[in-house]
Amino acid sequence: MAIERTFSIIKPDATRRNLTGKVVAKFEDAGLRVIASKRIQMSREQAEGFYAVHKERPFFGELVDFMISEPVIVQVLEGENAIAKNREVMGATNPADADAGTIRKEFALSIGENTVHGSDAANTAAEEIKFFFADAELVG
Ligand code: GDP
Repeated sequence: MAIERTFSIIKPDATRRNLTGKVVAKFEDAGLRVIASKRIQMSREQAEGFYAVHKERPFFGELVDFMISEPVIVQVLEGENAIAKNREVMGATNPADADAGTIRKEFALSIGENTVHGSDAANTAAEEIKFFFADAELVG
């Protein structure tokens, strides 16, 4: 299996409830290593750009408003099969459908306020990492 890098966001519902450490523990327990991390207040422009793929969806406005409502933690995770492994640890988008033990099952409040973002493929992982981090900030 290949060592991969993936992009993660700990969303405002989690930073607001001081759950950052509990979420990171889930990543680490799954064998993922945090190789870059910063707490930021996302701007509206950043959130709209990051989620541009969803701009025609009915929840786009709500999603952008949520993502800029409180600080977030943007991170790069590294490990074997990191992209799929992170998606597994995150659980389904809607916490009602998420498997036991996943981050979203344990912590998410709703389909919108669902605690974490994680890249869904190698190309999006690379683009999303670049969106928030310079190469020199990734320390593997
Ligand atoms: P993900 O890859 O599991 O994060 O899911 P998607 O790419 O389908 O959606 C991106 C994000 O949009 C989700 O993580 C949610 O925060 C939000 N989202 C998705 N569906 C809905 C919805 O029906 N209502 C609201 N308010 N937000 C949604």
